[in-house]
Amino acid sequence: MEHKEDKLKEVISHAKEYGFVFPSSEIYDGLAATYDYGQLGSELKNNIKSYWWKSMVQMHENIVGIDSAIFMHPTTWKASGHVDAFNDPLIDNKDSKKRYRADVLIEEFIEKIRMKIEKEVEKGIKKFGDDFDETQFRATHPNVLRNKEKIKEIEDRMRETLGKNDLEGVYNLIVDLEIVCPISGTKNWTEVRQFNLMFSTELGSVAGDASTIYLRPETAQGIFVNFLNVQKSGRMKIPFGIAQIGKAFRNEIVARQFIFRMREFEQMEMQFFVRPGEEMKWYEYWKEARGKWHKALGLGDQNYRFHDHIKLAHYANAAADIEFNFPMGFKELEGIHSRTDFDLKQHEQFSGKKLQYFDPELNQNYVPFVVETSVGLDRMFLAVLSASHKNEVLEDGSERTVLSLPPALAPYKVAIMPLTKKDGLPEKAREIIDQLKFDFLCQYDEKDSIGKRYRRQDAIGTPFSVTVDHQTLEDNTVTIRDRDTMEQIRVNVADLFSIIDQKVNMRKLLV
Ligand code: ATP
Repeated sequence: MEHKEDKLKEVISHAKEYGFVFPSSEIYDGLAATYDYGQLGSELKNNIKSYWWKSMVQMHENIVGIDSAIFMHPTTWKASGHVDAFNDPLIDNKDSKKRYRADVLIEEFIEKIRMKIEKEVEKGIKKFGDDFDETQFRATHPNVLRNKEKIKEIEDRMRETLGKNDLEGVYNLIVDLEIVCPISGTKNWTEVRQFNLMFSTELGSVAGDASTIYLRPETAQGIFVNFLNVQKSGRMKIPFGIAQIGKAFRNEIVARQFIFRMREFEQMEMQFFVRPGEEMKWYEYWKEARGKWHKALGLGDQNYRFHDHIKLAHYANAAADIEFNFPMGFKELEGIHSRTDFDLKQHEQFSGKKLQYFDPELNQNYVPFVVETSVGLDRMFLAVLSASHKNEVLEDGSERTVLSLPPALAPYKVAIMPLTKKDGLPEKAREIIDQLKFDFLCQYDEKDSIGKRYRRQDAIGTPFSVTVDHQTLEDNTVTIRDRDTMEQIRVNVADLFSIIDQKVNMRKLLV
């Protein structure tokens, strides 16, 4: 099996070579944890956005979308708790001079124990073959039980210390677990400190505290402050949702791993407003719905898992992550949070304005509870790209690199290729593009041999390649090649639309 780090490197260089993702301001050697999306990357990104937006707004009568400003009144962030509590506990290794998030170090330690359990189970499978009873094994094997107990102990201490903001306790936990720095291999740690993740800047020309504003660290607050505007102008009835896609900024301490953790990134968030007391029902509903949304892409069900939060954010009463099997292992892709009435109540208090809903069925005013789904667009992009990137050895021994992107997300849907550059074939190819371009992003390609052109389309994930040859001029038929099966069939030009549409239409993902 390919080494995981190599896999990530391969994906990064593929993304650059074909115009998906470039390091930001690369001619100046780049800017840490900032990336630009290229000509194909922005297409893929737009298609992911569109899949999300349609599934939320178009498929739900009771969800509408907005686009709020990145800058917000500074009191917003006082009210939301971000000024005082949007911190990460950080710790430095004195030998490597590397900085880590203390909670991440501990979570990675737990993950290692978890891997030990999985190894033990694998050994069991090998040893007992068909007679193996996995449930029984997991419930009784002494090594598994010991490790499970260990995980529970660590998680309890982590919850306890982080929950109380007991930084010394977090430090002690790291020391007691004998966690070493992955770079230096030593246990020479600094104390644990808190670090606020918000970027700030000055509004206008006046300096000083009063004019400090922040780049939003999440899009959600733009939804909360507009809750009544949308509810009233849209005559929304609870339960209803407000969706938004937009940039967010966080001064991440450890910004590594390509577009997985960036300082400027994009979120797709939906806040679902519900009756107090009904939040757990909706929390479960959205957990399931979001799981389905991801799995419909066909990247492999085994690549997803749910992880319930140990460390709850300051606003949540329940939270779970949908984790994806990235090249670096299972990591958070999306968060589903039951945020209670925390945010709206805080905004009521800080603004002095009522943010309540009159429920005609209950004949009563209340501050709604909120269930949020929040997925990183860039992380979705990385999930899709890395799971689709494959090196295949073909039957004839040759190799190809293919991006088996979900067809609905692929940048180009079809490439049209004249077999030669003469005899009117290019003109015929362009004529076909002129018919298809209203519905699909098409690429025209006449350079190099057909084989090479196919490889190029495979590498950028184009689901179909259509070749125009001399016979086309006679009977209006072309060959259409399928990216995944590499099969070619001869079809009438008039049938191209429906063949392509059937495969690439987003409808299939949405039902
Ligand atoms: P993490 O624990 O990885 O820092 P988080 O729990 O702080 O993430 P949330 O505040 O729940 O993340 O944000 C919601 C989603 O936004 C995340 O699931 C993730 O997909 C995305 N996201 C958060 N921070 C970043 C980042 N720095 N770069 C890219 N995407 C991010």
